[in-house]
Amino acid sequence: MMMTSTVIGVVDLAAAFLLIYGLWRMASPLTASAGITVAGWGMLAAVLVSFLVLFEVSDAARPYVFGNAGLAMIALAMGGGVSWWAGKKIAMTSMPQMVALYNGMGGGAAGAIAAIELLAHRSMGPTVLMMTLLGALIGAVSLSGSLIAWAKLAGVLKAPWRFHGQQWGNVAMMLLLLGVGAYLLLGDAIAPAWIWLFVGCALLFGVLMTLPIGGADMPVVISIYNAFTGLAVGLEGFVLQMPALMIAGMLVGAAGILLTLLMARAMNRSVANVLFTRFGDGHKPKPGHIKGELKPTAASDAGTAMRYAASVIIVPGYGLAVAQGQQKLYEFVKLLMSAGVQVRFAVHPVAGRMPGQMDVLLAEAGVPYDWIVQLEDINDDFAHTDIVLVIGANDVVNPAARTDKSSPIYGMPILNVDQAKQVYVVKRGEGRGYAGIVNPLFYADNCNMVYGDAQAELIAMIEAVRGLGMSAAS
Ligand code: NDP
Repeated sequence: MMMTSTVIGVVDLAAAFLLIYGLWRMASPLTASAGITVAGWGMLAAVLVSFLVLFEVSDAARPYVFGNAGLAMIALAMGGGVSWWAGKKIAMTSMPQMVALYNGMGGGAAGAIAAIELLAHRSMGPTVLMMTLLGALIGAVSLSGSLIAWAKLAGVLKAPWRFHGQQWGNVAMMLLLLGVGAYLLLGDAIAPAWIWLFVGCALLFGVLMTLPIGGADMPVVISIYNAFTGLAVGLEGFVLQMPALMIAGMLVGAAGILLTLLMARAMNRSVANVLFTRFGDGHKPKPGHIKGELKPTAASDAGTAMRYAASVIIVPGYGLAVAQGQQKLYEFVKLLMSAGVQVRFAVHPVAGRMPGQMDVLLAEAGVPYDWIVQLEDINDDFAHTDIVLVIGANDVVNPAARTDKSSPIYGMPILNVDQAKQVYVVKRGEGRGYAGIVNPLFYADNCNMVYGDAQAELIAMIEAVRGLGMSAAS
């Protein structure tokens, strides 16, 4: 028995180390994929070693515990199978929905463990009881909130649900939750009905809290729930006295908090602003606010102009991921470079729908990482650049963020694309970006619009440049 506990402890420690090391490697797109694999091995080791408890139980408990282990294996096979299949099949642009679902499952699992512990009427000390209640609360909120976030991102729920006095209703629900929680904490015996009431109120609170938030803010909301899930899992690790669960939960919680702050900072918004204000509901520019007109041009003309430019900066955005145009973009860039054009990629920290999405997209196509330059390192170079190709990006190049105080993105650092000599913007039409606002860049004298799907327009650019008589470098 002693031996089994030691093996479990050592493997748990090794798993925790692998999780931390994996997370550290995820900090750079160059090593991120290896980091995910390392963390995955850590998680697998922690899960498998937990089955060793089967050798620790008494003879009387053995049939019952073996039955549960069988159920756990079926659950692992089902969950692992579905997520393996979904992970392979999912499109890059659907990642936020997938993360929302998986995150909700994690929160739900932590909440369920807490509820079972409470219902088992174990004699808990006040600290453990408090931790269990907190885990149940946070886990349940994370489950129902993440499911609403998934429904919004997947387009199942189309519009935010708002009504007068909603925030006061949410405050009342929170007070009810705290009241029931206090009763459970201070009462002599825990009646099952009160536990169900507590968990039910927490689930409802997650729904009510998330429904009024606009779909545009869901990526940040998911990151907040991610932090919640990590916290709930960590608390349950404490309750069950499982160090691996504690460490994994705290890592997820800390990573979720840092990611939330990073996204909020890159958008120059506070977390409270994300949770309690209406963002992206269609900011209408004041009449006469935007000068100039939209000037469409053909992809072939844009491609030819870039072929004869000395320097080009490419700015990818969410639309590139939608069009899955990264391979064609890389092919086009190699063509330009083989013709002696200096080409770099400028990536905004919140381009796309998840931090690092553009870095991963470009890495997937094979673009060397040292061709990609981050906002703070390239922003001063736009003014000395011949041509900027904005491909499927909108908000991250909107100069209103610098000048229009009434704009919802006012203050957000943007790529200074408008300062280049010539800008080409590839997008399908007059669709707005994530923030739902008009972009004055598109109307500027130095900007031309190339209307169409990013991948199709890139193919047209490649053909135009090839037609000039040159081939791509290998
Ligand atoms: P935007 O969402 O602002 O704009 C994307 C543009 O792509 C749209 O204007 C759309 O125009 C165009 N588009 C869509 N599909 C295609 C296609 N198939 N081919 C060509 N163009 C297409 O994207 P950005 O990357 O500029 O900005 C990201 C936004 O997301 C920011 O506001 C940021 O704050 C927000 N955000 C980012 C997070 C992150 O972590 N990355 C997290 C939370 C929010 P059209 O329909 O006309 O084609």
